[in-house]
Amino acid sequence: MTDIIGVLSAYPWAFVVLAVVIGLLVGSFLNVVIFRTPPLLEHAWKQDYADFTETEFTETKPPGIALTRSHCPKCKKQLAAWHNIPVLSYLFLRGKCGFCQQKISFRYPFIEMLSAALVGFAAFSYGASLPFVTACLLIWFLIVITWIDIDTFLIPDQLSLSLLWLGLFFSLFEFSITPSQAIIGALIGYLSLWSVFHLFKILTGKEGMGYGDFKLLAAGGAWLGAELLIAVLFIASISGLVFALAQKIMNNYQNKIPFGPYLSIGILVSYFFGDQLINLLFPGL
Ligand SMILES: [Zn+2]
Repeated sequence: MTDIIGVLSAYPWAFVVLAVVIGLLVGSFLNVVIFRTPPLLEHAWKQDYADFTETEFTETKPPGIALTRSHCPKCKKQLAAWHNIPVLSYLFLRGKCGFCQQKISFRYPFIEMLSAALVGFAAFSYGASLPFVTACLLIWFLIVITWIDIDTFLIPDQLSLSLLWLGLFFSLFEFSITPSQAIIGALIGYLSLWSVFHLFKILTGKEGMGYGDFKLLAAGGAWLGAELLIAVLFIASISGLVFALAQKIMNNYQNKIPFGPYLSIGILVSYFFGDQLINLLFPGL
């Protein structure tokens, strides 16, 4: 094991290439998680409701995340192993199902490439180290949260709260922030959006965000500390505005837009460029 780390430290580019391959493979798994989690949660909620009201519930459980092989959503045929190679399969099959020619969304290879690019960047920035491992976890959680929020307008607690606990746990190693900074960051993250939400509701009578967003920003605070939350909210607002404008220009404007994807962009950018952003926000500190 120490030999492997030694070799990877001696050839940093070999590590980046390895990280990109890992990013592609995990990206392919993230697609499965994004696709299968919402139906599983819905089934669990219905089960809870039935238990609570003591009614009968017979709906069969949707496929689990691991172990069940992927099927084409249209023709239901099980995908062959070579249909599951990240990005390459999409190119070979020219974006269509190998059996029924149903178009496959560009989103699948896009998520694989995004995961590969971000994990590659983390490898380049941190080398073979614990901060690299934690950066990967943050990247993968945020990718899944982003696309589940786009699909369902929900951020599952299982994801946002796990991310929050992970942030608190990793603060024990103190390679970026201390545990007290993480705890205060989580508190301020939750309370800041919670206050904005209630103020907005009092002033306009409308609900502009959801509780999932508060929990996601709390997780961001646990990973980044309180100071950087200003950067997160600034980047989230700017990127949200840019996307909304782009949609308006392309005449594809949707009235309801999820905030989770933009918070995720803000958290990730602040994680990678925290020091530079702190210098920008608080010059002289
Ligand atoms: Zn098919």
